[in-house]
Amino acid sequence: MPTKTIFLDRDGVINKEINYLHKIDDFEFIDGIFNACQHFQNLGYKIIIITNQSGIYRGYYTENDYQKVTQWMLTQFANEDNNILDTFHCPHGPDSTCNCRKPKPGMFLNAKTKYNIDMKNSWMIGDKEVDVIAANAAGIDNTIFLRSGHRIDESNSKASFFLDSIQQSKQIITA
Ligand SMILES: [Zn+2]
Repeated sequence: MPTKTIFLDRDGVINKEINYLHKIDDFEFIDGIFNACQHFQNLGYKIIIITNQSGIYRGYYTENDYQKVTQWMLTQFANEDNNILDTFHCPHGPDSTCNCRKPKPGMFLNAKTKYNIDMKNSWMIGDKEVDVIAANAAGIDNTIFLRSGHRIDESNSKASFFLDSIQQSKQIITA
């Protein structure tokens, strides 16, 4: 049975955006994220996190720092009865020829292969146009752009929906 999935960007969607966040003390969950994930789970979606982490390439923090924050984050989700199926991150920089750094679709495609994901019935929630471009390139048509502070020219965006908060996604994703 193919898995329908909610793909979440991390910074600006799960946690308040801080440039090159790498300390647990600086990690602040966005209001409503646990409740929204509970809603998605109740509808039968899996939840996967897809995040660019060029701070590793830039030397601002290490892979190990990233993993520590990730393990802590996953524990907080678990404490709220949210089950995150997996997390994918790109540790490379903007000049890399890797196929994982968004807007490239590599992380989404790896997830698709690993979990047999039904991309047409899946969603991506992000806060940058590169999230939308990567999702579309991976075959995900349903995209939500959260206005988390990034300025965006919405008329030039390919996103399906623009929302002010993650809570509002519960009105959009209903089946
Ligand atoms: Zn990469």
